[in-house]
Amino acid sequence: MATSVERKPSSPALAAVPLWIDGAPAASQTTRFGDVMNPSTGEVARLVPFAAGADVDRAVAAAAAALPAWRGTAAVRRARVLTRFRELVERDQKKLAAVISQEHGKVFLDAMGEVQRGIEVVEFACGAPHLVKGAYSDTVGRGVDAYSRLEPVGVCAGITPFNFPAMVPMWMFPVALACGNTFVLKPSEKDPSASVVLAELLEEAGVPDGVFNVVHGDSEAVDAILRHPGVQAVSFVGSTPVAKHVYATAAAAGKRVQALGGAKNHAVVLPDADLAFTAEALVGAAYGSAGERCMAISAVVAVGPSADPLVATLAALARALKVGPSDAEGMDMGPLVTQAHRDRVAAYIDAGVAEGADLVVDGRGLTVPRFERGFFLGPALFDRVSPDMAIYQDEIFGPVLVVLRVDTLDQAIDLVNRNPYGNGAAIFTGSGGAARRFEEQVEAGMVGINVPIPVPVAFYSFGGWKQSLFGDLHVYGPEGIAFYTRTKAVTSRWPKDDAGSSGFVMPTLG
Ligand code: NAD
Repeated sequence: MATSVERKPSSPALAAVPLWIDGAPAASQTTRFGDVMNPSTGEVARLVPFAAGADVDRAVAAAAAALPAWRGTAAVRRARVLTRFRELVERDQKKLAAVISQEHGKVFLDAMGEVQRGIEVVEFACGAPHLVKGAYSDTVGRGVDAYSRLEPVGVCAGITPFNFPAMVPMWMFPVALACGNTFVLKPSEKDPSASVVLAELLEEAGVPDGVFNVVHGDSEAVDAILRHPGVQAVSFVGSTPVAKHVYATAAAAGKRVQALGGAKNHAVVLPDADLAFTAEALVGAAYGSAGERCMAISAVVAVGPSADPLVATLAALARALKVGPSDAEGMDMGPLVTQAHRDRVAAYIDAGVAEGADLVVDGRGLTVPRFERGFFLGPALFDRVSPDMAIYQDEIFGPVLVVLRVDTLDQAIDLVNRNPYGNGAAIFTGSGGAARRFEEQVEAGMVGINVPIPVPVAFYSFGGWKQSLFGDLHVYGPEGIAFYTRTKAVTSRWPKDDAGSSGFVMPTLG
């Protein structure tokens, strides 16, 4: 979690990432700063201001001032601005990916993929005129018509995690803006620079000043947003304890909230699965982005005789992965985001060994020549893990894959469903019947069938169940439109001689 202690810049010579308020970079009024690291080198790259309440006030005031004109702009014009933004993100995709890769530590091609998934949501949002159409019913009574209007909610806020510094904000603000809302983003303080690049591109695309604002910071900035009377809706993505806090605090303040939390995503492997295909898919899903993905596969449930050959193949593939600096060619995995997180993940590997699981591949001893101060950890694979072990129960959020063994598909589904998280779940099998049973019975918001990371395309919606989501609506897609609009139902009559008169009894149809 973010630190909340009083902090001074570790090096006054380093530049601080600006806030973005009312269409321009802005200095924070804070005296507290954090270090933004380059996880590959272990060095401080720049500073990030931990915004104070006064910064949040300025950002919300700018968003509120911009709201009347933006919500009054024709949806087709808002869509044109977003279309231009989409072109600019594509133009600067490499620049954005380089910024992400440097501060997060994911390899460059993975960062390019992250931006691409964000672009897809912008493409969805470009359909705004169609998406915010209401319904119309002619003649619901004599001379009476009924219709609905989808109106913007107002000033919306987004609070986002470190692991997708461009994509997760892009799950939110393109849809919010398309619907006529204005927006305040509080990105992760660990990799804040991508959000400022996005703000610059929105400005260049023609988004009016104040429609999109960025404040950086930790829990102080977040809590100021959650309690701010000028904010009408909050979208959060991050860990489960913070998601619960955000949901409870913002809902108590009367706001609309969607708070997406952590995950422990399972892949069930049946004996009839294609072994080579499955192992290849699982290794990418477990260790890609060093396991720092909310949809990473972190638990494999091997059914019956699938276990021995699967573990042997996974181990061989994991040992062959190339781990190194995020900007080096040909790397499969970069470092973890901070030293503290790297050490926390390594401590889980220690704990797994102490709990009696079989450590088949050990990532702890890895050093990367010339990058000895980087936050690297190699892939780790545990076999014969039991559900009571901490390495199974907790979200580790690192390159650690655990294998549990069961005898039947029913036992596998039961195991998945007993886990408190319900983000994604996947099955690998050659049997349509088994896949259908899994799809129907598994308690998760997103299901993959021979697809390890079933992140929905932009015209569906993304979200988990149970401890992976607090709130009712998933992000982007149709549920994103529902979240960022309020429905107004209108009943209309234009009195004429033959329309009858209003009475004192309950009006009925006809
Ligand atoms: P985090 O919960 O530590 O931080 C998320 C955001 O909350 C950041 O902006 C941070 O500044 C803020 N924050 C942190 N502590 C806070 C506190 N005490 N009070 C108020 N605000 C606080 O998460 P993270 O480490 O940045 O990201 C990793 C987590 O996010 C993992 O648990 C991962 O599963 C989850 N995640 C979930 C999804 C999803 O779609 N469900 C997607 C991406 C990441």
